[in-house]
Amino acid sequence: METKKKTFKGGFVFKGFQGYPLAVVESIGLPETVMYPLLDTKSLNEALVSKGDTVKAGQLLWQNDDVMGSPVIATINGTVKSIKPTMWEGSKVPVITVESDGTEKWTPVKGVTEDLDSLDAADIEETLYFAGVASSGRDGIPTRFNTSPIKSEEVQHLIVKHCESDVYNTDLSVLLRENTLEDFFDGLSLLKKIMPNARVYMAMNRKNPPWIKELSSDLFDEMVLVTPKYPQGQDEILTETVTGMKIPGECTPANASAIVLDVQTVLHVYDAVKTGKPLLEKIITMAGPGFSNRSHVKVRIGTSFDQIVKGRTAGKENRYIINSTMTGSAVSDMAKPLESDCNILIALEEGRVGEIMLWTKPGFRKHSIMNTMANAIFPLAKINNTNMNGEERACLSCGNCYNVCPSGLYPTQLFKYVERDKVDETVMRYGIFKCIDCNLCTYVCTAKIPLSDFMKEGKARLIKDGYASKKEILTSYGLKETE
Ligand code: SF4
Ligand code: SF4
Repeated sequence: METKKKTFKGGFVFKGFQGYPLAVVESIGLPETVMYPLLDTKSLNEALVSKGDTVKAGQLLWQNDDVMGSPVIATINGTVKSIKPTMWEGSKVPVITVESDGTEKWTPVKGVTEDLDSLDAADIEETLYFAGVASSGRDGIPTRFNTSPIKSEEVQHLIVKHCESDVYNTDLSVLLRENTLEDFFDGLSLLKKIMPNARVYMAMNRKNPPWIKELSSDLFDEMVLVTPKYPQGQDEILTETVTGMKIPGECTPANASAIVLDVQTVLHVYDAVKTGKPLLEKIITMAGPGFSNRSHVKVRIGTSFDQIVKGRTAGKENRYIINSTMTGSAVSDMAKPLESDCNILIALEEGRVGEIMLWTKPGFRKHSIMNTMANAIFPLAKINNTNMNGEERACLSCGNCYNVCPSGLYPTQLFKYVERDKVDETVMRYGIFKCIDCNLCTYVCTAKIPLSDFMKEGKARLIKDGYASKKEILTSYGLKETE
């Protein structure tokens, strides 16, 4: 195994905020009900169960192999309470709802064996598909089923990541305490069997020496030690850092024949194949000052966010954000269920404070890239809420946006073109499609200009107006088309 230090130009280190979670895992117990949203109203006809049926955890509820992903599986034992369109935020979503019978047991996926060496790739792929694990990660895990935009044998780079570059991150020791290092390495060996042509990398926060030592193994071709600055953990930047191939924001690592998975997914692979455990639950990191009780919790997939946060809030009005304060999506309705792509749930107090002339205040708990706040001298834990911390004004040419941009862009220049409606070949020449929507330019902008929104708008308009197609973007970056 080679060990290399790699990083990217730009980026930003977040540290010293309020709301970090404790390195412990708690269980919130069995939910009373779970919900499984389906694709569209047509999917209701493809449900494999009916109202009133008894279901077992691990049982298939819905399957359509024409749709990329895994089948929907029950994550609790109980009875199907309803299968119907449900109103969330003014739109109808088809949902299967199951009421728990209070029992914990689950039905193992077929094909389980203690003897992992006896399994071939086809066995592993089938188990991962029926365990609901194969759709994990941005591009899924390639199998003989329709679970990824690329085929197993096309994968040239398998990247396992633990980069800790966001404001709040999952604690690796928590994940590897629930399983063991041996389980992780067994999971990795199984993945290597189904992606035989891949060079295998472990991308690790270089400031985590104990775990670098623990995870060093000849199962990896390369240990990549990365600087834990945002957005290193974002799959596009990570793939570029590790492989040297640029992934524009409109593309995914699969376009560069790469698959990026996190440590928890590797452990789910192990659980599914060695113990037959379907993907019933996840360890979710509950972070942010909006929670009074912050830790890592085991949650059954399909549990509503209402049930997850119950008894953990500080009684304030919070905004709940999935996975990242920088790029995550806000939970629009707390009645919605947790889905398998959620790793971190962040609670930020809604900021309703008008902050006129903020820069005249000392800012003992304020964060500023410019080190102009008192927090630079008195490093008290910084407040993290949804306040804008100032109002939009004209660009001050401070240079923050292009100093941090991981794609080497000049957001200050590009936004002016989009704002003035000059969206044509010029902004393409300036590289707007390199933007990976990390939102860092907006975060650091002294003038509070929503720069990343202008980037998104510019790219969307270029595609809509026919200046560029996805195929042309792929070709210009030397990437491959995927399904
Ligand atoms: S221009 Fe795009 S890639 Fe660069 S910092 Fe802004 S959002 Fe990130
Ligand atoms: S960070 Fe904002 S104020 Fe500074 S140069 Fe960029 S756009 Fe202008």
